[in-house]
Amino acid sequence: MATQPSPAHVVVIGGGPGGYVAAIRAAQLGLSTVCVEMDRTLGGTCVNVGCIPSKALLDSSHHYEFAAHSAKAHGIGIGSLSIDVATMLKRKDDVVGQNTKGLEFLFKKNKITWARGRGRLRAGNIVEVEGSGDESAAAYQAKHVIIATGSVPVELPFLRFDEERILSNVGALTIPRVPRHLIVIGGGIIGLELGSVWRRLGAKVTVIELLPTILPGMDEDLVKEATRLLAKQGLELRTGTKVTAGRREGDRVLIDVAKDGATETLEGDYVLVAVGRKPSLNGIDAAALGLGVGRRGEILVDDRMRTNVENVFAIGDCVPGPMLAHKAEEEGVVAAEVIAGHAARMHYRSIPGIVYTWPEIAAVGLTEREVRESGREYRVGRFPFTANGRARTAGEGAGFVKFVADAQTDELLGCHMIGPSVSELVAEVVLAFEYGASSEDIGITIHAHPTLSEAVKEAALGALGRSIHI
Ligand SMILES: Cc1cc2nc3c(=O)[nH]c(=O)nc-3n(C[C@H](O)[C@H](O)[C@H](O)COP(=O)(O)OP(=O)(O)OC[C@H]3O[C@@H](n4cnc5c(N)ncnc54)[C@H](O)[C@@H]3O)c2cc1C
Repeated sequence: MATQPSPAHVVVIGGGPGGYVAAIRAAQLGLSTVCVEMDRTLGGTCVNVGCIPSKALLDSSHHYEFAAHSAKAHGIGIGSLSIDVATMLKRKDDVVGQNTKGLEFLFKKNKITWARGRGRLRAGNIVEVEGSGDESAAAYQAKHVIIATGSVPVELPFLRFDEERILSNVGALTIPRVPRHLIVIGGGIIGLELGSVWRRLGAKVTVIELLPTILPGMDEDLVKEATRLLAKQGLELRTGTKVTAGRREGDRVLIDVAKDGATETLEGDYVLVAVGRKPSLNGIDAAALGLGVGRRGEILVDDRMRTNVENVFAIGDCVPGPMLAHKAEEEGVVAAEVIAGHAARMHYRSIPGIVYTWPEIAAVGLTEREVRESGREYRVGRFPFTANGRARTAGEGAGFVKFVADAQTDELLGCHMIGPSVSELVAEVVLAFEYGASSEDIGITIHAHPTLSEAVKEAALGALGRSIHI
């Protein structure tokens, strides 16, 4: 350990989307910045074992499914179809590599020091870096610290991850062959996305969800449509079902489930446990530092990302709010700007949530139920993709766009979409939310024809009873 810690204006602990973005923004603002990351690569969960690799596999398996089931309708004949899982996984790893290398380039460009090792925060804003192998960089005296240590998957006590047969997201991204039967515990975003990958490639996939529906918390119309479409594709969705025990026996996994008093043992060759994630406070002794933490162990912060300890900030999955990369990134920007003396604040109203199944699902704002329960009078506009010309050209008529708007003021309150490429379509709506737009604002805006985005315009007009094409 160095006797004299090196001074730094900002030390960020964690190099995921929260931490690396905070570091880049701090450096842009002229602050000397160190980012401590203990993984071999930058990018955190998102880039290494989350958003990016899962989408790479979703894209590959989507192409496979198109070739298997939809190409024929376009007059495209494909002889015998096969999937080389090793190549698909290598491609995924290459995509991850492009992203992690890109981050190293950005760190160099912005003159950010990457302190490789595990950061440990001591009182007085001293950050020790264990395992850096570089004595001179083993400790930093930071003016400001940003904690961005992320989250880890929740384990079931009777099903400890071995990442061979009992998988978290990490193991589910490296299954070496198409499973015969993949059992997914948890019908949330991660379970449905990774379950879809292997189902498209031919695996039998059973999703077990304790709650009465998949995608708990999303708009009920979306959930209904998603349930219908995913079940039609072949995902076996067992909702209201409790996993009571589970074990691995050689290459098999045995999962005991119970529903309405009846019990059953499911046998699969892999089980993915996707029952949620919890904040990680690796290297952060909250009690010793006097940091305020919530019920789930998350670090409590204000809307400027300040903790209750002076000059200590926290962002991303280790603080309250949805565990999403874009939320972590924005919090990183706010923390860096507040440190630099700007009047930045985090706004949580317009954070989109997306499920990258096919069709995709995207939402921003309040669900219809939330609006109804608030007692506010509202109107709903809804437009199906079957009535959208571009969706028809693509053979992608499933799904709809739905708006919930205030009945008096027409203010947009919520938008819920299921359909082709809605992960991209939602951006327009998020912008509209940020500008406090009404449904009429979107409805009277010219949208290019023929595009999927016309469904957004039409649904917005629908809230006023003025849709043209339905
Ligand atoms: C399968 C999957 C798919 C996902 N898909 C999406 C998606 O499509 N869109 C989306 O928005 N979100 C997605 N997420 C969620 C997203 O990955 C997280 O919300 C995001 O990564 C959180 O960023 P973060 O910076 O807070 O934490 P993390 O990304 O978890 O990064 C924390 C980093 O801190 C490092 N670290 C922790 N403690 C220390 C320490 N003491 N010293 C040094 N380093 C430390 C860790 O090694 C890690 O690199 C997905 C997650 C999973 C698991």
